[in-house]
Amino acid sequence: MATRAIVVGGSLAGLCAGRVLGRFFDRVTVIDRDSYPAAAADRTGVPQGRHVHALLARGRRELERLFPGFDPAMRQRGALEIDFGWEVAALRQFGWLPREPSGITSLFASRAMLETVVRDRLRTLPTVELIEDTAVVDVVWSGVDGGRRATGVRLRSAVAGTGRELAADLVVDASGRQSRAPEWLRAAGVEPPAETVVDSLCGYSTRWFKAPEPERWPSEWWWKGIWIDPLLPAQRTAGVLFPVEGGRWIVTLAGIGGHYPPGDEAGFTAALGTLRSPLLAEAVRLAKPISPVYGNRAMANRFRHYERSAEHPAGFLAVGDSVCAFNPIYGQGMTSAAVCARILEDSLERLGPTARELPRRFFRAQARFLRDP
Ligand SMILES: Cc1cc2nc3c(=O)[nH]c(=O)nc-3n(C[C@H](O)[C@H](O)[C@H](O)COP(=O)(O)OP(=O)(O)OC[C@H]3O[C@@H](n4cnc5c(N)ncnc54)[C@H](O)[C@@H]3O)c2cc1C
Repeated sequence: MATRAIVVGGSLAGLCAGRVLGRFFDRVTVIDRDSYPAAAADRTGVPQGRHVHALLARGRRELERLFPGFDPAMRQRGALEIDFGWEVAALRQFGWLPREPSGITSLFASRAMLETVVRDRLRTLPTVELIEDTAVVDVVWSGVDGGRRATGVRLRSAVAGTGRELAADLVVDASGRQSRAPEWLRAAGVEPPAETVVDSLCGYSTRWFKAPEPERWPSEWWWKGIWIDPLLPAQRTAGVLFPVEGGRWIVTLAGIGGHYPPGDEAGFTAALGTLRSPLLAEAVRLAKPISPVYGNRAMANRFRHYERSAEHPAGFLAVGDSVCAFNPIYGQGMTSAAVCARILEDSLERLGPTARELPRRFFRAQARFLRDP
């Protein structure tokens, strides 16, 4: 009989999981409540996409492995390949970082474009389908204590407003930081995972700019990006200028310890002038704002310890921010999503796609990585 896996949430973690599941199931259905924009653009379900997103070197490698051609496609669409040591003016705790090639280059791009490149590649797989505009409102379970199994999901179409059920052999929750999986488990009589939350009360304020034409750049501007650390405890605001495709800059102010950066345009501009160096404010003065100021304060580290749960219903897994959402300051989330897809692939290879033991063993393996990413 044909097997089906359902992935709840078609953002980065869901797309990576979908790619891996495509090797083991006859059919993989990735479901998102958003409609995907035709071009690389923000969408409601991923509000963090408007903020700076750094892709770590490991994440870049893992995405290329999962989606061959990812790297050239990113560069072709305008991602910048940047050596942080050589091309970013970085004021760290101890002073300006000496300008030296690090030998490691990173791709600088908007999160929206990165997701689009990944999604376009996933769409080419014949066994994977993406359903948009459809929310998963619950998981369907069978069995009782100790013998529960996820057998599908309940859906609600955002367009038609209608509901239906879709059967599956495996349900993978990738619905992000705000995942309702703990509630779905509780409603089914399963204790939801214990949580560790570490909240340093961080917040981002971000504004996008059109970079000035090269002829307007002062000759001493050798950099492509800027990074200014805070100097705790007195100075609690960091600033980043992150160049992305389309000749644009993403400028983010990050505050720590409840010292949230301003969310209005005048306040944002004024706060740039309070950073430890005037460089970022000077750069922005030559650039043209192309967005309002976006804020984000949902930045606590949140680890849902599925690996510690007493009961692991068969046929139910969770990945990505839904399991472990890092403070974005670390730039870990996308890389972690890609690495966890590899861990999922290993577990599926070892145990098979419908094994009773799969959830327990996968959650343990995933947690070993997440504890020390
Ligand atoms: C401000 C900020 C900055 C960040 N910066 C970085 C960075 O620099 N580097 C980095 O690697 N990571 C960063 N991250 C983290 C990164 O955005 C995530 O780790 C990454 O997007 C993977 O998340 P995800 O796919 O698990 O969830 P999300 O990206 O949150 O996506 C969840 C998806 O599930 C869908 N969904 C939710 N509920 C349902 C439902 N019931 N039914 C159907 N669909 C549903 C949503 O529409 C969405 O598409 C940052 C996060 C924040 C908040």
